[in-house]
Parts: sequence; C-alpha cells; structure tokens
Amino acid sequence: MLQKANDLLKTYFGYPAFREGQESAISAVLERKNTLCVMPTGGGKSVCYQIPALMLPGTTVVISPLISLMKDQVDSLVQLGIDATYINSSLTNQEASERMEDAAAGRYKLLYIAPERLESPYFTGQLGKMDIPLIAVDEAHCISQWGHDFRPSYRHITKMVDGLAGEPVMLALTATATPMVREDICSSLGIRKDHEVITGFERKNLSFSVVKGQDRGKYLKNFLKQNKSETGIIYAATRKTVDQLYENLKKGGLSVSRYHAGMSDADRYSEQDRFLRDESAVMVATSAFGMGIDKSNIRYVIHYQLPRNMESYYQEAGRAGRDGLPSSCTVLYSPQDIQVQRFLIEQSIEPNRAAAELEKLQGMADYCHTESCLQETILRYFGETETEPCGRCGNCTDTRESEDVTKEAQMVLSCIIRMGQRFGKAITAQVLTGSQNKKILEFGFDKLSTYGIMENWSAKDAGSLIEFLISEDMIGVEHGTFPTIYVAAKGKEVLKGLRQVHRKAAVRSAEISTKDPLFEELRALRKQLADEASVPPFVIFSDASLKDMCLKL
Ligand code: ADP
Ligand code: MG
Ligand code: ZN
Repeated sequence: MLQKANDLLKTYFGYPAFREGQESAISAVLERKNTLCVMPTGGGKSVCYQIPALMLPGTTVVISPLISLMKDQVDSLVQLGIDATYINSSLTNQEASERMEDAAAGRYKLLYIAPERLESPYFTGQLGKMDIPLIAVDEAHCISQWGHDFRPSYRHITKMVDGLAGEPVMLALTATATPMVREDICSSLGIRKDHEVITGFERKNLSFSVVKGQDRGKYLKNFLKQNKSETGIIYAATRKTVDQLYENLKKGGLSVSRYHAGMSDADRYSEQDRFLRDESAVMVATSAFGMGIDKSNIRYVIHYQLPRNMESYYQEAGRAGRDGLPSSCTVLYSPQDIQVQRFLIEQSIEPNRAAAELEKLQGMADYCHTESCLQETILRYFGETETEPCGRCGNCTDTRESEDVTKEAQMVLSCIIRMGQRFGKAITAQVLTGSQNKKILEFGFDKLSTYGIMENWSAKDAGSLIEFLISEDMIGVEHGTFPTIYVAAKGKEVLKGLRQVHRKAAVRSAEISTKDPLFEELRALRKQLADEASVPPFVIFSDASLKDMCLKL
C-alpha cells in the first residue's frame, strides 16, 4: 500500500520522498482510522488526503473554508492530471447543480466544497447518493470555538456524515496545535485521542525576533532598503494602516501589493495574483491575507503591529521560508498595540467569548516581553514540552548581559499584594511610580507604603517590568471585564527570596535612595527579623497585615 503511495508521490506530484508525518497520516487513512493531522503551515498537509483520494475508490470530499483558493488548488490538481472540482458560492446555481450531478455520477476523485454548502438539504441529499470513502476537513480548527477562526457551518459536518450511506474515514487537518482545540476537533469529528499525527512544530529555517522601543516606520524603511530584492509580507492590524503603508511604500518606489477585507473581490484577487506571480515584491495586508497561500520564496514576514494571538501569529509568520531557506519573522512591538487589539477584540466578539480572546492576546504580549528563546516560547505555547533554545532568534542571539532585578521585582509584587490583587497593570504601575492620578487618590493608594517606591521610574518602564514578570509567570492575569493581576506561585517564591529574577532589558534601576524613610524602616526590620528564615528580603512591612500575608505565602 505504502509503496503505491510512494509511487504516486513521485509520479503525480514529483517529490522524491515524504515529509515528516505525511506517511503516517496516509497509512492511518488507508487503515480506515479517523485521524487528526497537525502539521505546521507549509508542512504539506494537502498530500495527506490527495494521495489516499487517488488510491481509494469513489470521490474524496474536501471541506475547506477558503473559497478564494479552491479554484487554484483544483486547477493545479487538474494540471497534474487528477480529476478534481469544487463547488462554492462563486458558481451559479446552474453550474453548481451540474457539477453536483457529475460528482454524483462518480466523475471526480476529489470534490472540494465550502462548509456553508452543508447547510443545504438538497446538497447533502446529493452527497448521500455518492460513494465517499474519505472526508478531509481542512483547516479543521474552524470547527472549534477555541480556535482563532471559528466557522459555525463547520458544525454541520457531523450531521452530513450521519446522512451518508457508507461510513467514510474522517481526516482532519490543521496547523493549530493547542490541546484544547485538538480535543474539540477530535470529539466533534469522532477521532480517537490516539489517532493523532502531530509533527514537530519547529521551523528550523525561521528566525524570530521582536523589535521594541523603536520607531516602526523608520525600522521598516531601513529594513526594506536593506532587503530590496527580497519578497516578503507585512501584516498590519487594521485596514487603515494597510492603506497608509501601501501608499507610503509605493511612493518610496517599491513594487507593492495590498490586501484586506475592505477591498472588492476583484481587487483582492488581482493584488494577490500579482504577488504570487512575483510581479510585486511586498504584500501589505491584514490577517485576511494568506490562509492556504502557497508561495515558496517569501524571505520575511513582518508584523507591523501585534497580531491578536499566537495561533494567528505562527500561521502568518510560517508563510515565510516554505522552500526551507533561511527567512526572518519579526514583530514590531509597542505596548499600545495591546490596547488596539483589545479594542478590536471587544468590538468584534460577544462578551462571553472575549475573555478567552483576551487571554490569548496576553499570550502574544508574553511573547513580546519574554527574554527566553522565541521559537521555544512558541513551541511551548502549542504544548511541546521537549524543547531547546533555537540559537537563531533575537533572544538567543542577544548578547547583552542580564542584570539582577530581584529587588525591583519584589517591589512590584509587594505592591500588587498591598493593592489587594484586584487591580490592573496600568494602575499598579502608577502606584509604584507615585502618580497623582485622581483614581489613585480616590482609592487611597497614596497611603500605601509601596506608593512611589519606584518614583525614579517612568510608569512605562514599570509597566514593562510588570509585563516581563507576567511573561515569566511570576504575575498572573485574571481576564474579566477588567483584567486584574495577582502574584503567581513563582512570584511568591521571589517575594520569599527563594528565587532570583534576571533581565537583560533591565532599566538601570534608579539607585534606591538610602535616605528614603521606607528603606530605613526596612533595613531596621530586616535586621530585627534576620533569623526569620522565610521573611521576604525586600517587602516593606510597615503594616503588620502585609507581613502576615507574606509569611503565609
Ligand atoms: P499545508 O497545507 O500544510 O500548509 P501544503 O499542503 O500547501 O502545506 O504544502 C506546502 C508545500 O510543500 C507545497 O508547495 C507542496 O507542494 C510542498 N510539499 C508537500 N509535500 C511535499 C514533499 N513530500 N516533498 C516536497 N515538497 C512537498
Ligand atoms: Mg493547507
Ligand atoms: Zn531562540
């Protein structure tokens, strides 16, 4: 069987060998096991159903959310000499029913359909007459509310399958590997937990980096000057930014395309086409661009603004370097991006789902603030546990010495405790830096002994330290209507002096003024409590309750 699959790979597709995971997925399908195949973008998922489709009698049905790409995929199959067609809303009713009749007569090896079709009883009735050995559910994360691209019509798949005469094998394919999404896909489609084919998610030819604290317009201009001859994608968060960037780059003499959902279908199609044909070097787009795009020579993907979550980020960044050559993936980060994305999420999502989205956004913020390996951070997010630093990313290659910021971390953590662990990041930073903000006075936070203990810091730097401590899991975030922060288990260890904190981007901690009465008090207390082993070294206990609290941590 697998020899046959190997031959087909060579004769039809012209590839010398299978890639990681392809063979296991194909043999699982041929053994009639319902299977979930998780491979990174560009990993080669299509072959996993296309080859079985050629080997099995009848017509394989491929459910794909990408109307704009069905035609391309089908065209390239037809070019390879494979009988394939698609049915979606781009066809007239007449065309659709003609194709459906041909399909029912068994004319095709592969039939691509949009999930919305499954809502039509006429259509599912026709499918019921067909011989369908395999149903491939592409971009299967669309079935899950936890995924980043939930499509309600994916929920009709199971009903359709129940209405079929035979019992087709289900093959679900996705590049999203979070455990919750995987579980959702498996339980929705009746896939057993041990029928997952998951390949390593590391992309060894990609180097990730996060650029912060720089003017992104300038950065981009410089970057493009140095990479004039290369092909790349620039993602921006809003249509307006896409339009602005597009105009600017065009004025600067670059051959550039653009893509966002506010453009007409025809415009989008022709812009995408120019880019795919190498007629333009740079694509400026919102995240509407790129799902399923197969362009091999993309040398860089730049996110001009923060993506909304890690799932989208890895999928979008993963479009770089499909040919295996070294490519770069860069996020240009500024803290206000979080506000922009938060706003976009709150505008577009029902409140009961917004909390989950905001939590994912925090995952993205963590990515921007961590000083650990970025590739590892991504892999861990997707549930891989055996990871090692990549040695290529911006953090792995950052040669700055890290500094001990344990003391500063303790200031932040003790302030959070004093504020009752019920407030957000911004106000905590303000209390730490001694802001005169009306809200702070209203809450009486100016009476706290941690008020102003970082008064030589800017609120921005204090905020960035808070974000760093969140990315280190020392501070936790509770995502409700207002996100609040609390001291997490690792943070408690820091407070107790059992764990140190190091940071490369340490703001040179403004020398703590020894004249400050608070620190006098602290020093005295430290001396007095020197033999109390569990006493945090730097918590300021001018009130007994806090001391008790810290001792109980
Ligand atoms: P995915 O759907 O996982 O993002 P695709 O199925 O679109 O990926 O495949 C990505 C690219 O890899 C395509 O250009 C495809 O032709 C190529 N490819 C797939 N399998 C192989 C293989 N075994 N050897 C070489 N190239 C392959
Ligand atoms: Mg694909
Ligand atoms: Zn790394």
